[in-house]
This record gives sequence, structure tokens and C-alpha cells, in this order.
Amino acid sequence: MATKLKNNTLSKEKDLEIQKIIEKELARQKSKLLLIASENYASQEVIKTMGTVLTNKYAEGYPNKRYYGGCEYVDEVESLAIKRAKKLFNSKYSNVQPHSGVNANIAIYVAVLEPYDKILSMNLTDGGHLSHGQSHNLSGKYFTIYNYNVDRETEVIDYEEVRKTAKKVKPKLIIAGASSYSRIIDFKKFREIADEVGAYLMADIAHIAGLIAGGVHPTSVDVADFTTGTTHKTLRGPRGGFILAGDKYKDILNQAIFPGSQGGPLMHVIAAKAVCFREAMQDSYKEYAKDIVKNCKALCESLKEDGFRIVSGGTDNHLFLIDLSNKDITGFEATGILGSCGIVINKNLIPYDKKNPTVASGIRIGTAAVTTQGMGVNEMRQIGEIISFALHNKDNSKKLKEAKNKVDKLLKDFPIYQNFNQ
Ligand code: PLP
Repeated sequence: MATKLKNNTLSKEKDLEIQKIIEKELARQKSKLLLIASENYASQEVIKTMGTVLTNKYAEGYPNKRYYGGCEYVDEVESLAIKRAKKLFNSKYSNVQPHSGVNANIAIYVAVLEPYDKILSMNLTDGGHLSHGQSHNLSGKYFTIYNYNVDRETEVIDYEEVRKTAKKVKPKLIIAGASSYSRIIDFKKFREIADEVGAYLMADIAHIAGLIAGGVHPTSVDVADFTTGTTHKTLRGPRGGFILAGDKYKDILNQAIFPGSQGGPLMHVIAAKAVCFREAMQDSYKEYAKDIVKNCKALCESLKEDGFRIVSGGTDNHLFLIDLSNKDITGFEATGILGSCGIVINKNLIPYDKKNPTVASGIRIGTAAVTTQGMGVNEMRQIGEIISFALHNKDNSKKLKEAKNKVDKLLKDFPIYQNFNQ
């Protein structure tokens, strides 16, 4: 006899309203050229894992120390995710429960800071992140924030300036890490500075986690006291965060996540993080990480040759910033122009920007997603030409249509999520 549960628990009936929207989003992702530096295409295995019954389980606490019964299998899931994260990043400790990158950062603040303690972090306009002290963010509201900048000429972090500011301010925590910085971050130099002033060092590798895992950016693990990151950017996993650190911080960090700043962990997402960590251990992933950077340099060079000013003159990682001031286009306008050609990017402040963030003088471009798609250096040159053509013909609808046709043609050769029924 069929089991009858209230509220259609066992029903296979689809919610057609939401299904249609998901299908539209899938079609959008398949038909656009994705150059947003913080996005990627997760594998079908990662996506499938998130849509499982693991979502039903409450598991406050940690493996073998839960506040709920029935956690034997989610314990296995979380233990495996922790083991893989530690192996992938060569870390003594990992916490895979942060719901997002911001939550991972907040946990560090909860673990080692008291209200009004001083944080020294990168200026938002120079590439820093909202959770590093922006005034409306919890970090800016509850702590005293001081910033370091990039050098006005080179647009690269000036470590001597960081040192000088650190000595003057004497922060309790220094944050190294950014959302829109295209150069290698020298975590060892940050460590020296932190030691000189007796500060904790936190490395936020949200953007570059995949590059570190793939061995194409120096690691912050065992250099910084705490490393926080996201799994959904270059790492190409589910949307979420993680923490890495030395074993001595295990208790305070675990406590800072639960009960310090979160409730029940998202076990379906933690399982998908485990899948992502395994994928990132493969040799093919190391090739992928190398290709992201190679593609980024190629796309950057192509635009540079066409007269675009690149912030700091180039890139060492998965992203770069174009300063559009000399083209008389704002970041806001460029986002719209390129969007009409099927190219998805985001407007971005550039160092010492005089425009406000809703307009911005620049755009940020990243190559993690197009590299997942299998594109290489030749395609990067084509994309560079299309971007340049579109921005130089911004008022000519016929030419913008031409640019869109070129994007469509390129995407036909690099399909994603084929035969993927959600
Ligand atoms: N830290 C940095 C440096 C980031 O760039 C981002 C997101 O862009 C985050 C933290 C926040 O990640 P999430 O959106 O997962 O909270």
C-alpha cells in the first residue's frame, strides 16, 4: 500500500513555476560568455550532490560530537570533507561548515577579536572585500578598521606602506586577500609584518583558492594563522566557505563557527564540497589551474594591445581590471554594452577611483569559467577582439549585433551542461 504523508512529501510532482525559472537560468548560462571573476561552472556531480536528502539532517556540532541523533552518515560526510580539504591544501586543520566566504571571515573575528579591536585590511577601492571592514558590514560596525592601499603609480601592494601603517596602528588582526587584485599576494611578507607588530594574520583566499590548490599561487597555509576561502570561485565547487589553520586553533575556530556564528551545517553542501576537493586533487585540475592563468594573461595582453589600460599593467592570476577612463565609458555602461553582446562581466572600482561603486571607472574580467568550458589562448584573443570591437562601437547597434553573433558562434564550439536535466 502506498505510504501517505502529509504535504506531498513523497510526491514526484514538479513545481512547474520554479522549474521553468531554473530552465531559463540554465539556458542563460549556456548562451552567455561568462567572464565574472568570482563565478564558475560546478561539475554535474557537485550540483547533483547538493540536491540530495542530506539537506534534511540537522547536525549541530562536529563529527562524533553532535547535538542530534541520527548523525552517523553525515558524520562520515563531514569527516571525509575535512580530510580532503586538509589533504588538498596541506593543512593541519580545516572547518568545512562556513555557509559562505563571509561566514568564514566572521568566524575568525569571533574567534580572536573583541568589539572595537583594530583590523588592518586592504582598501575596498584597491581590491579589498566588504567583509574586511566596509562600514555597513558587521566587520566595519564592530571593529576599528584601518586600511592599506596599493601604490598610486604601480597599483601593486606596497609592503613597506603596509609595514609602516601596521607599526603605527598596531592592529590585532591583519588581513591579506582581495576580491579584485590581479597580482601575486606575498603572504610571507605579510607574515613578517604581522610578527613585527604582534598581530594575527588572516589570509582570505576566496578568489585564489583554486589557484593555490592547483599550485599556481603561493599558499597561505602555515604562513598565515588563519586561511579563509570559498569553494565556488576558482575552486569550482558548491557555493560555500571553509577555514584552514594550524591545529592549535582548532577549538576556538570550531567554537567560533558553532555555536559562535552559525547554527546547523548544510550537510548537502558539505558533501558537495567533499566532491569538489576530490576533483581539485586530480592532475587534470592542476592543468586547469595553469590554463586559467595562461588564458588570463592572453586575454589581458590582447586588450592591452588594443589600447586598454590594465590596472597594474597586467595579471598573475585569474583576473584583471580594465580602467576605462581613457575610453570615456564608465564601468556601468561597459557592463550594459557587453551584456547586450552576450558577455557577462561586472563593473569594478579601480584604485583611487573617483566614481562611486554603482558607476565605477573599471570592469573586472576573469577566466576561470571560460577555462572550465575548454577555451584556450586562441579563444582568449578572439574574446579580446570582440570586447574591444564592442566597446569601440558602443553606439552602433549593427556592430553590437555583429559582436553578439561572434559570441554566439564561439559558444557553439564550447557547450556546457549538455544533456543535463535538472
Ligand atoms: N572574501 C573575498 C576576498 C571575496 O572576494 C568574497 C566574494 O566575492 C568573499 C570573501 C565572500 O564570499 P561569499 O560571497 O561566499 O560570502
